[in-house]
Amino acid sequence: MSELEDFRSEARQWLAANYPPELREADPASLDSDAVWGGRKYEGSTDPQVLWIRRMGEKGWTAPTWPVRYGGGGLSAEQVRVLEEEMAAGGYRQPLISFGLLMLGPALLEYADEAQKTEHLPRIVRGEIRWCQGYSEPGAGSDLAGLATRCEDRGDHWLINGQKIWTSYADKADWCFCLVRTDTSKKHEGISFVLIDMSSPGVETRPIRLISGESPFCETFFTDVKVPKGNMVGRLNGGWEIAKRLLQYERQNISGGFGGGGGAGGAAGDLGQIARNYVGVDETGRLADGDLRRRITENKMNFQALQMTIARSAAESRAGGGPSAATSIIKYAAASFAQERSELMIEAMGHQGLGWEGDAFKGHELTATRGWLRSKGNSIEGGTSEVNINVVAKRVLGLPDPIKQ
Ligand SMILES: Cc1cc2nc3c(=O)[nH]c(=O)nc-3n(C[C@H](O)[C@H](O)[C@H](O)COP(=O)(O)OP(=O)(O)OC[C@H]3O[C@@H](n4cnc5c(N)ncnc54)[C@H](O)[C@@H]3O)c2cc1C
Repeated sequence: MSELEDFRSEARQWLAANYPPELREADPASLDSDAVWGGRKYEGSTDPQVLWIRRMGEKGWTAPTWPVRYGGGGLSAEQVRVLEEEMAAGGYRQPLISFGLLMLGPALLEYADEAQKTEHLPRIVRGEIRWCQGYSEPGAGSDLAGLATRCEDRGDHWLINGQKIWTSYADKADWCFCLVRTDTSKKHEGISFVLIDMSSPGVETRPIRLISGESPFCETFFTDVKVPKGNMVGRLNGGWEIAKRLLQYERQNISGGFGGGGGAGGAAGDLGQIARNYVGVDETGRLADGDLRRRITENKMNFQALQMTIARSAAESRAGGGPSAATSIIKYAAASFAQERSELMIEAMGHQGLGWEGDAFKGHELTATRGWLRSKGNSIEGGTSEVNINVVAKRVLGLPDPIKQ
């Protein structure tokens, strides 16, 4: 048997032996949807999802490619592929969703000093700390380098004052990776990247409600927040390079979360089957509405092609060099297809897809309506579609800037 086949059989046995049986039997609606994000709040918890995070985290398989010395699995690209295949075949849940794993960790591996890597990476792998992203400000979204949150050198610590906005899950996060202004005389070269413990005195979060009725993000205020000197990643005023790199990781990873169902892309389930249930079928058993059938087929084919492109791009990224500006293509396409899927779902359900609450609507119908409303944010979060198209034009296609009149 080849080494890879040995690894496959080991992985298969380990997964089967360590998967909490409650998760196999559980109705997803009965599970605490927050637990999968981990964090301090779940320390000592016996929730089966937390047990799954802990077991996979101790094995290093929540971050299978990260080096073993930082808690990761140290697996090769081929081994990761095998692990993913085994997880899909066995129907195992993703153990941990985390901004630490998807965005901060890869950036720390590239830019942090040894002490920072040793402190933060193993805790990300084990899901012990939940991170949020403090980038956007009321006056700095697409023009992110216009950010104004001040970070002053006070000798033995940094002092932070300012406001962030749209900070996803800031009210639930334990730490924040944050962009701050350390030099007001320069724009991009006056930004630094700091790590802030959200339990520090002077940090306040206020949830904002989305159009879907959820409150997944917050205004975040920093008032005279003291941050240890060792929490700055990279050099003083060198944060912009890290910020951009982290955005590439975000755009590479965010796309996998759109459209699979749930909050981001509408109700879960096969779109074609759902449409057949509501619209009916013709004499051959196909969806009765030919035009809707064509558009649903096109959307499903696009999603399939996108999944293959995401897998290829992730493999290229693992093979060397990390993600590139091409992640903007994926982010743009994933947001468009997810929004289209939500629109098709609502169209197929007709009036039943337009409920907000009440007995006249089934649970999955209300999920579809709220998912459709939530999907409006897909073309904004992680950089708007317009901004991503600009990145593709400039950095992928090499087109010149528009001539200024
Ligand atoms: C669900 C969700 C979650 C989010 N989570 C986070 C988070 O965790 N942390 C965080 O820091 N931020 C987060 N954001 C904020 C997000 O990154 C910003 O909303 C986004 O970057 C756009 O910034 P803005 O809202 O200020 O819009 P603006 O930048 O004001 O843009 C307004 C409009 O102008 C267009 N526009 C702007 N500049 C250009 C240009 N140069 N060319 C063409 N068109 C342009 C935009 O495309 C957009 O349509 C989140 C947003 C959403 C919706």
